[in-house]
Amino acid sequence: MTNTDNQPHKNWAGNFYYNASQVHEPQTVEEVQDVVRQASQVKALGSRHSFNSIADTAADHISMAGLNRIVSLDPDQQTVTIEGGVRYGELGTYLDAEGFALHNMASLPHISVVGACATATHGSGVKNGNLATGVTGLQFVAADGELVTLAEGDEGFLGAVVGLGALGIVTRMTLKLEPRYDVQQTVYLNLPMSELEGQIDDILAGAYSLSLFTTWEGDSFAQAWLKQRVTDAGALDSAPQFYKAVLATEAMGPIADVPVENVTQQLGVVGSWHERLPHFRMEFTPSHGEELQTEYFVPRQDAQEAIAAMRTIGEQIAPHLLISEVRTIAADDLWLSPCYHQDCLAFHFTWKQDWPAVKTVLPLIESVLAPYQPRPHWGKLFTMPAEAVQARYERLPDFQQLIQKYDPQHKFGNSFLESYIYA
Ligand SMILES: Cc1cc2nc3c(=O)[nH]c(=O)nc-3n(C[C@H](O)[C@H](O)[C@H](O)COP(=O)(O)OP(=O)(O)OC[C@H]3O[C@@H](n4cnc5c(N)ncnc54)[C@H](O)[C@@H]3O)c2cc1C
Repeated sequence: MTNTDNQPHKNWAGNFYYNASQVHEPQTVEEVQDVVRQASQVKALGSRHSFNSIADTAADHISMAGLNRIVSLDPDQQTVTIEGGVRYGELGTYLDAEGFALHNMASLPHISVVGACATATHGSGVKNGNLATGVTGLQFVAADGELVTLAEGDEGFLGAVVGLGALGIVTRMTLKLEPRYDVQQTVYLNLPMSELEGQIDDILAGAYSLSLFTTWEGDSFAQAWLKQRVTDAGALDSAPQFYKAVLATEAMGPIADVPVENVTQQLGVVGSWHERLPHFRMEFTPSHGEELQTEYFVPRQDAQEAIAAMRTIGEQIAPHLLISEVRTIAADDLWLSPCYHQDCLAFHFTWKQDWPAVKTVLPLIESVLAPYQPRPHWGKLFTMPAEAVQARYERLPDFQQLIQKYDPQHKFGNSFLESYIYA
């Protein structure tokens, strides 16, 4: 169960080399417990799609890849319980065949469910909470090797779901379901930014899930991706215009050199929720590959002003960008969610893989967004000082209490948690 090859051990994008001295690949919960009991420092590794040091450890990594079984489906309660290494793509295919669905998905189905929820990963939609809002229960191995089970209503549950890997190794997770549904995806081109004035709320609510893509140069969003749920009334004909944006008549990738085969089907073709809500198809490389990512969340009520602020630095950031995406996320009550008690607008950036250059523009973005108290995505790159991040999480002291309870010696610690989370 221990990986002894000497392959470089790095994240998906290849921008971060982990410091782990060995990688364990347990197949059972008992094996996870054994590793945790014996380790001095240990960390779970999901599908390695984070861009910063959040998944790093100085000693033992536990790859969750072998714990990828669906444990049970409860049709009456409408819940599914999975092991800690299942990926959204695998889960989506299974659930759809059983007649069920999740409320939302991120841009890619390749990520592990637990790793995504641990960092408050999200899709889009003014009424859609992030993916972690679908969690109703979890089981994890705490630092002493014992199993802890928390369900909705239990003390600490709302802190443990977006857990940043800080409380233990999550071996099981239960998610709420709804009956399966179909989605139509349509792309519109060149949405003038001036259209947002006075009607931004309507535009952002223009589809079940909506993404606006831009490089922040010029006066328009190059693409608007609308993902609409198909109702009992059946498929809709796509309108020729979305505000002043024009219906695309061929499939589009969000980044110029990403082949359109890699993206989920567009042109209004009806398909299952799990093959339309992500932007990228499971069978292909998502996004660009050689890239870096950053994302900041601001209150949705400040959307218009924050977009105007971003436009003032468009020329400075555009040379380093592959693409930027604007999405919405509904408020929730998960302590470390960037959308805790606040509806959010999220500014995402897919950068060329040039950290020295990106590092110089992040403070610029952080400074123009400062009036809106931005919260960075936990799994992406940012340069905000730790005090600024900590000040934006009113439940951080409660989370620190949870750490004290389940990992008092910081066995699951690393440089990321040292910087941003531990007191
Ligand atoms: C191409 C691409 C597209 C992306 N699109 C989106 C998007 O649309 N929306 C968005 O919000 N984010 C997006 N992300 C970011 C991504 O969703 C997050 O980084 C997420 O954490 C990745 O999940 P993972 O399984 O790869 O986690 P990892 O990077 O492997 O780990 C992340 C954290 O989760 C912890 N963890 C993982 N598994 C467990 C476990 N079983 N128990 C305890 N802790 C665990 C790790 O220890 C670490 O702290 C994207 C990333 C990429 C590369």
